[in-house]
Amino acid sequence: MNTTHWSVENNVDNFEDYPQVAEAAQYIRDNQIVAFPTETVYGLGANAYSDEAVAQIFAAKGRPSDNPLIVHIAEYQQLEKLVAGISKQVKLLITAFWPGPLTLIFPKKSGVLSDLVTAGLDTVAIRMPSHPVALALIRTSGLPIAAPSANRSGKPSPTTAKHVEQDLDGRIAGILDGGATGVGLESTVLDCTGPFPVILRPGGITKEELERVVKDKIEVASHLLEKTDVPRAPGMKYKHYSPSAPLYLVDGEVGWIQSLIDEKRKQGFKVGMLASTETQSKYKADLVLDVGSRNNLDHVAHQLYHTLREFDQSNVDLIYSEIFPQSDVGVAIMNRLEKAAGHHWVIQEKQDS
Ligand code: AMP
Ligand code: MG
Repeated sequence: MNTTHWSVENNVDNFEDYPQVAEAAQYIRDNQIVAFPTETVYGLGANAYSDEAVAQIFAAKGRPSDNPLIVHIAEYQQLEKLVAGISKQVKLLITAFWPGPLTLIFPKKSGVLSDLVTAGLDTVAIRMPSHPVALALIRTSGLPIAAPSANRSGKPSPTTAKHVEQDLDGRIAGILDGGATGVGLESTVLDCTGPFPVILRPGGITKEELERVVKDKIEVASHLLEKTDVPRAPGMKYKHYSPSAPLYLVDGEVGWIQSLIDEKRKQGFKVGMLASTETQSKYKADLVLDVGSRNNLDHVAHQLYHTLREFDQSNVDLIYSEIFPQSDVGVAIMNRLEKAAGHHWVIQEKQDS
C-alpha cells in the first residue's frame, strides 16, 4: 500500500482551512485509515461507524480483536449519539477535563458504532482530544474516529510521525504529521459505569486531580496494584510498549546497578541503560540514554517512548531501566515501564548495617 504523507507541523492555527487536513478527513470518510497527532500520542484513526474501516486498524497494527478501541470526538453533541446515558458525575468530569487526556467509559447505545470498536462489550470508551489537528480532523470528517495508538501492537506508542513511519509505512493509507506530541503517554482511562469510579489505566491526569472533581474516592483497578499481570479489562493482558531487547527494571543504588551491567558485559552481552539526567554520567554501558530529570516527571513522560524506541536503533541485547517515584504522572510512567519490562524486576538486597 502507498502511504500518503501530509505535514501541518508548522501551521498552528485554523487547521480546518488546510488542504492536508481536508484530504486526510476525506480518507477517513472513504473508510481508509490515517495516523494523526493528539496531545497524548499519535493515533491511528478510522470511521468508527464502519466495520470495513475499523477492521483495517486491527490488521495494520496486528492488534488482537478482543482489545477495544477509544472513540475520539470533537463536540459534546457527538457523545449523545453514541452513549446510552451520561451520569452527573461524568458530566462534571467532562466539564473539567475535556478536551484533554481523559478517556471515559460509557454504556453504549446499541447498533450505532461498529461492534469491532467495542470488541463485543456493552460499554464504549470515548475521549475528546485537545490537539488542534486531531479536533480539525474529527470536525472536518464529520465522524467519530476510532483510534488506538499508531504503533505495531506491542511496541512503544509513537510520539512523532517518524515513529509512526517506522512501524506502519506501507500498511496504512496516510500519516498526518503535526510535530511531536505533548504529554507523551496515553490518556487516563476511567470507568464510571459501576458503583464507584475505577481507573483502568493511569495517564496524564492523576487520581488526585480526578478525586478533586468528583469529590469521591477513586479506586484503582486491582491489576495495577499488583506486580503480576492479571487482566481485568480487555486488552490489559497483553505485553505493551516494549523495545525489541528485553527490559529489566532495577531497584537499587547506582554502584550496584553498574555491577549488574559489568557482569552482563563480561558475559558478552551489549547492555543498554535507561538513566535519568542525574545519573547518566555515572554509568558505563554500551548505550546510556537520559530519559529526563527526576525533578521533572512530566518531561520524563514526554520522552519515555522516544527513548525506548532509541534502543531499537542500537544493537543492545538487554536494557536495564531505573525506576521513578510513583507520584503524580510517575504512576503512569511506572505503569508503562512495568508493562515494557513484562514485570521483570531486579531488586538489590538490603544490607544489614
Ligand atoms: P489504546 O487505544 O491501545 O491506547 O488502548 C485503549 C485502552 O482502552 C485499552 O487499555 C482498552 O482495554 C481500553 N478500553 C477501550 N474500550 C474499553 C471499554 N469499553 N471498557 C474498558 N476498557 C476499554
Ligand atoms: Mg496502544
